[in-house]
Amino acid sequence: MLLRTLPVRLSLGSEAATTAVVTIAEWTMLERLRRAVMPAALCWCVAGLLLPIPLVHFVAPPLLLIAGPVVFVWKFFTRTSFKEVVGVCPRCKGEARTMSMGGGVSDETNVFCEGCGNQLTLRVSKPT
Ligand SMILES: [Zn+2]
Repeated sequence: MLLRTLPVRLSLGSEAATTAVVTIAEWTMLERLRRAVMPAALCWCVAGLLLPIPLVHFVAPPLLLIAGPVVFVWKFFTRTSFKEVVGVCPRCKGEARTMSMGGGVSDETNVFCEGCGNQLTLRVSKPT
């Protein structure tokens, strides 16, 4: 896993935007395969466990059997993902906080401040 950092802007409503640094993980082929197999296998195992339960076995196992490959493809083709962001929250304005996050890399996403719990908008700064 290769880690790189990018400058970002954190904003919240009418509060003045602050700058932060986000860490992005770039996954290798083997890591992506490992990340994809585990949730897909979990879907299929839960589908197998739900088979003996009356009425539930009509709905949950087929959905989980379909969800397994969907999750596999989704996780396998996620080449980069956000790891964490370190910066000052526009609302609390305290010391720089480390906020954990996940999901694929996009120009704009949401992150929750671990100090005040507000949902902040994170925008990747464009190089000028
Ligand atoms: Zn905050």
